[in-house]
Amino acid sequence: MAALETIPVSVVTEEKSSQGKFAAEIFSSGERWMRGAAPWVVGWVLSVAILPIPGVHLSVPLWFFGGPIAAYFLYRTLHKNSRLEFDCPACHAHIEMPLPADQLPPVYIYCPKCDKGLKVDNS
Ligand SMILES: [Zn+2]
Repeated sequence: MAALETIPVSVVTEEKSSQGKFAAEIFSSGERWMRGAAPWVVGWVLSVAILPIPGVHLSVPLWFFGGPIAAYFLYRTLHKNSRLEFDCPACHAHIEMPLPADQLPPVYIYCPKCDKGLKVDNS
């Protein structure tokens, strides 16, 4: 089970910087593999189990290919319940926003208030 972690980050524009923090439940490599394996196994077991059932067998390709596709997207998920908190170095607004589930710092974002490009890096 992923534990809630808080990572101090620095937020940088071309000339100014500020400090902030990134909090999220970050998955380890093993947890990501297990999260990905579950829908893959379920999809393939289900596709074999429903193969002899007339009519329902038409959904076999959905389960056979849907399992690995769902596994790929779950494996790509690096964290959940994320919150990035910082004071924008350009406009000094206090910003609280999530990061996309497949990104961890260092990452480039835009300030939602002033649209300035910011680099969020581990400090
Ligand atoms: Zn700003």
